[in-house]
Amino acid sequence: MEPSRRALFLREMGLAPLWRRRAGAEHVATATVADSGSPAAEPSRELDRDEPHSRAARILRFDWAQLRAAVSGCEACALCKSRKNTVFGVGDERADWLIVGEAPGAEEDARGEPFVGQAGRLLDNMLAAIALKRGDNVYIANVLKCRPPGNRNPEPAEVAQCSPYLLRQIQLLEPKLIIAMGRFAVQTLLETDASIASLRGRLHRYRGVPLIVTYHPAYLLRSLPEKAKAWEDLCFARRTMSGL
Ligand code: URA
Repeated sequence: MEPSRRALFLREMGLAPLWRRRAGAEHVATATVADSGSPAAEPSRELDRDEPHSRAARILRFDWAQLRAAVSGCEACALCKSRKNTVFGVGDERADWLIVGEAPGAEEDARGEPFVGQAGRLLDNMLAAIALKRGDNVYIANVLKCRPPGNRNPEPAEVAQCSPYLLRQIQLLEPKLIIAMGRFAVQTLLETDASIASLRGRLHRYRGVPLIVTYHPAYLLRSLPEKAKAWEDLCFARRTMSGL
């Protein structure tokens, strides 16, 4: 890695000159990619059942407006009882880049927009470091559209109920490249329980769309060594996009 670009990245991420845990970082941490003991997100088998009347099959025919409406009124799991707002996704609906995170946290739940808390500020800086900007050729979505109470990990059943929404977003967007951030995004999209460490650094595909794996920004706020790896992943994503 070229030192000057790395230094730029660290500065863009608000991490230079010192690697320091920020005060309060633990309160925004919704993803714990290092917690390998928790259950893996169950593969979205429901998506593969194409009975004409199944819920997933219905969702997969929605246009943007129908999909938005379905998410905002969704009562498919108990998270609808504790949410303030659903968090559909944000950005350019013709974006080449799709960023997929885990689930809304408290600030996202309050505002109805993904990645607007501390992890979101880091995400914006990470995007800036590779010359990308929220809303400009980038779409940001989560696996779950509702906040798990207390920012606990998503339950497999919640992931299974919510996955058709993400799949339909991906179908409508037709992004050129997906960056999956954190264990839940990665394991849900790639239907694997493999670790981020074992999956990063190579090009994967989600239903034909090139997909790159990296760490979740909330995890990066807490973990020094992975920040440099995330930078490598973003450079890899930039190079990959250039070649597409
Ligand atoms: N973490 C996520 O994965 N998504 C958000 O929207 C916010 C924090």
